Amino acid sequence: MGDSRSDSSGESRPEVNEPVARLFTCTVCGYASTHPAGPLRAERGATCLNCGNWTVQTADIGDLVETARDIADSLAGAILTERQALAYLLREQAGVDRQAAAEAMETTPSNVDNLHRRGREKVTDARRLVDGLQTLQVDGESDAGSW
Ligand SMILES: [Zn+2]
Repeated sequence: MGDSRSDSSGESRPEVNEPVARLFTCTVCGYASTHPAGPLRAERGATCLNCGNWTVQTADIGDLVETARDIADSLAGAILTERQALAYLLREQAGVDRQAAAEAMETTPSNVDNLHRRGREKVTDARRLVDGLQTLQVDGESDAGSW
């Protein structure tokens, strides 16, 4: 594997899919251990090193929110506001419940719902736009090739 790190822009952009070292707590015995996980992964099933059972292990919500803030900051722009991006990431990707998301964002659950819905609409629109443009590009390339 070569070093394909794309830091040519000099901008430090958080890698959305890059695993991070995250503390997970066993929901059975409460033992916490660090594991590599997707940045917004809220829980994992694994053999607990302490109780020895296959258990559900959950990430600390504060850690998830902190990571989601960094990612929301990098995703925000002309399409998504930072608040919409954050609500979308917390609810859609991290699976944080609306009450916890509201506390993290210092707002009401119904406002989280609104931000989440708007964020989801915009993500859907953006995806459709990109897909539509890609379809055009494929046609354009085959035409150009016949020149
Ligand atoms: Zn355990």
